[in-house]
Amino acid sequence: MVKNNLKEYKERRDLKKSSEPSGKEKKEKLKHPVFVIQKHDASHLHYDFRIEIDGVLKSWAVPKGPSTDPKEKRLAAPTDDHPMQYATFEGIIPEGNYGAGTVMVWDLGTYENLRKEDNKEIPMEKCYDQGKIEIDIKGEKIYGGYALIRTGMKQDGNKAKWLLIKMKDDAADARRNPISTENKSVLTNRTLEEIEKESKD
Ligand code: MN
Repeated sequence: MVKNNLKEYKERRDLKKSSEPSGKEKKEKLKHPVFVIQKHDASHLHYDFRIEIDGVLKSWAVPKGPSTDPKEKRLAAPTDDHPMQYATFEGIIPEGNYGAGTVMVWDLGTYENLRKEDNKEIPMEKCYDQGKIEIDIKGEKIYGGYALIRTGMKQDGNKAKWLLIKMKDDAADARRNPISTENKSVLTNRTLEEIEKESKD
């Protein structure tokens, strides 16, 4: 079974110093299941790819962000589960705190599980455990089929290596490059610089 818990999330943070969600808040009204990509200007700029599985946001750090080209496999390093409320967190994680830097909600939407067996959906928890996730993403910048595939053997938890790959479908497009052409928040239409500046004011 997927180990779903927010223990690491809570242990790594002093939520008196950072305005990130505690994980105790009431549920927000979002369409489910949630898909979100946060652009995170931490010590290394990366994109946090998160999907709702069993009440938490399963998370991967994708250094280059997702591609719309099926030929481009993007490395996705699993990170801690995050609380659902994190999907709409945008702002600054203060200096000296875990993940210090600016966070932007780069894309937000929902997804549909594409994996079926005998005409029945394979539960997402099982897909995760098998290291094989195939979902139809309904974001604004990222959409269509995406696969998350765990590679190699004997790789557990946060040490495992996954690849994020655009599946071949109508939404596949080697000419699009939203990572470089669409660099504003899908929630507030702000750039990272604007979020940083406004959070400090
Ligand atoms: Mn991050």
